[in-house]
Amino acid sequence: MTSSTSGGGRTSMTSSTSCGGRTSMVSIPDIRYLKGVGPKRVGLLNRLGINTVEDLLYYLPRRYEDRSNFTLVRDLKIGEYQAVKGKILTQGAHITKRRINVFQIALADKTGIIYCVWFNQPFLKKFFKTGQELMVYGKVEKYVKLQINHPEYEFVKTGTGSLNIGKIVPIYSLTQDVSQQYLRFLAREAIERFLFSANERLPAYIRARRHLADIRFAIRNIHFPVSFENLDKAYKRIVFEEFFILQLALALKKKKVKTGAPGIRHKLDAGLIDSFKKLFPFELTQSQLKAINEIQIDMASPKPMNRLLEGDVGSGKTIVAIYALLLTAQNGYQASIMAPTEILAKQHYVNISELLMPLGVNIRLLVSGLKPAKRLEIENEIKSGETDVVIGTHALIWQGVKFKKLGLVVVDEQHKFGVTQRHVLRKKGLNPDVLVMTATPIPRTLALTIYGDLDISVIKELPKGRYPISTYCASEDKRESVYNFIREEVKKGRQAYIVYPKIWSGKKAGSTYEVEPVSSGLKAAAAMYNKLQTEVFPDLRLGLIHGRMLVKEKNDIMKKFKDKKIDILLSTTVIEVGIDVANASCMLIENAERFGLSQLHQLRGRIGRGAYPSYCILLGNPKTETAKKRFYTMSETQDGFEVAEQDLELRGPGEFFGTRQHGLPELRFGNILRDFEIMEQARAEAFQMVREDPYLRDPRNIFIRDTLKKRFAGKLELISVG
Ligand code: ADP
Ligand code: MG
Repeated sequence: MTSSTSGGGRTSMTSSTSCGGRTSMVSIPDIRYLKGVGPKRVGLLNRLGINTVEDLLYYLPRRYEDRSNFTLVRDLKIGEYQAVKGKILTQGAHITKRRINVFQIALADKTGIIYCVWFNQPFLKKFFKTGQELMVYGKVEKYVKLQINHPEYEFVKTGTGSLNIGKIVPIYSLTQDVSQQYLRFLAREAIERFLFSANERLPAYIRARRHLADIRFAIRNIHFPVSFENLDKAYKRIVFEEFFILQLALALKKKKVKTGAPGIRHKLDAGLIDSFKKLFPFELTQSQLKAINEIQIDMASPKPMNRLLEGDVGSGKTIVAIYALLLTAQNGYQASIMAPTEILAKQHYVNISELLMPLGVNIRLLVSGLKPAKRLEIENEIKSGETDVVIGTHALIWQGVKFKKLGLVVVDEQHKFGVTQRHVLRKKGLNPDVLVMTATPIPRTLALTIYGDLDISVIKELPKGRYPISTYCASEDKRESVYNFIREEVKKGRQAYIVYPKIWSGKKAGSTYEVEPVSSGLKAAAAMYNKLQTEVFPDLRLGLIHGRMLVKEKNDIMKKFKDKKIDILLSTTVIEVGIDVANASCMLIENAERFGLSQLHQLRGRIGRGAYPSYCILLGNPKTETAKKRFYTMSETQDGFEVAEQDLELRGPGEFFGTRQHGLPELRFGNILRDFEIMEQARAEAFQMVREDPYLRDPRNIFIRDTLKKRFAGKLELISVG
């Protein structure tokens, strides 16, 4: 479904191979071969992404206007957009006192007269003649008489049928110098001359089973629907195909992992879970136990595990991962866990070492910035197999890191990594088991698309004994009392975070803490650090952490905070992921309107981890509707799934994960939220097709196979068909 670049009549939609006894040699040409497209227009159309006639056929309207019914003049409603059909009674132009040229026609039907008025378009005069039949569409107003200013108009012609009025009319996205009327005209041209060559790619048996229209019906009706019912059918059909191809790719990818070269068959030890439980002073939650069980079943199977573990912040995913690490080590394989930041990797290292070292598991931390000698030492131990568990950052995927027997790959906060990074790590073993974890709960809608090739475990409950977090929204005039509140918490023995959107405001400063304070309106962490320490909390111990510090500095600060040598930690979003300090019960987020919903939720997840009531305060001034909605959602719910659904709705799927590289498919037609039901159907069909015809060799599936190959050419390295 990609568009080919412009250039001499290049084929883009049709495959020109012949297969299964059916030949399709028709080519769909460059847009310039269409009537009404001169060299200048070609450029304009290209700007809209329309290079070929096929692109135009698939250039879907943004919305539609129902102009199919004409209203009689006597029934017109003032203020509404309506269509009128009548005969031109009079026409003429005059110049007003203010030197505006007014061209006016009187249009009459059998019930009355309406005036159509254009300003400063004297040339219109020569288009209209009295007695002509005319259709107009626009907002009806009443001054002295009924009037429409600058209506859309179209003459009643016999033969071709109307294009702009008297039917359900498509409204396209435009660019400068391209009008709706022109695009409608072109779309009709393209349909009339080239629709016959649009190839049906969906097998007939699937169309029949799912009651889907054929492609030619769909294209015709997506532009010029005869009824809204037909429009629905057309839309469903086009979106289904798009989703189907996506799901087919996922199904094949999943199959490839499952039926490709076998993975490792880890041996289970029935007693392991009991001794594992004894490592903790608390009980594992039902969700954790369930996830552990799902994981060990996967690990015991010869098929490589490819599982996503999702659970809200603080739900205890790490422990589940640790079990998997232990099981791997017990089987004589190596395991590695990759985290997005050094602070987090370090934290895992400390916690995991504490638990597993006593059991004789060798653990190493591999991060960037190590002295070469140290690094070499660690790499050698990994290579020789002496190290059982390697914990690290991106440094893990470096070339020099070679495992002797890598059996398990865990990726923590995996949405912070790109698809390729995960892939590279996995390739360091021979089909190792893979567990990816995320604290951004994935709405089901997205889970089926982004992670459609993974099995999913969900941790639904938070550990027992957690106090809920109360979240409040406050504006600037409450600053004083917010500070007092924090002071009270600290007096009770708790600790607090204050989060800022930036380290320093304004341009990048020359020396580290040079600040341009109020200019951008953002509270900069570094600037505020000095101010708070000297003016507001001179008696308390403040700390500052941000992304531009050296790793060692960051680690030292985090350690101090953990050891309760810092009362209030000022930070940027570096603390967003994974940091776990149970005594911190209070978080103030400054300029909270600057943060996205999921990010606010992630930040908030740093508190509420201990047996204390916790408080999150959003300080800020939400001006836009969506910002207000974010504040509202935060104060209303603590459920990560609800937050995620809401976030997805506010930002749309494209923004939800921030960047493209996280695997969100680029969709041209469908919307995975709105069209979720179609996605489910397409998924069911795609997975069934792969079950029944794993290599898509069935002649009925040939066209879809070709389409798939073209669509994903070189993009999904794991997909190979045929
Ligand atoms: P996340 O899912 O956000 O990665 P963590 O694994 O960091 O959560 O766990 C958060 C905190 O909860 C840790 O301090 C961990 O020791 C603790 N924890 C995990 N499971 C339980 C449990 N079942 N009961 C009590 N505390 C738990
Ligand atoms: Mg975690």
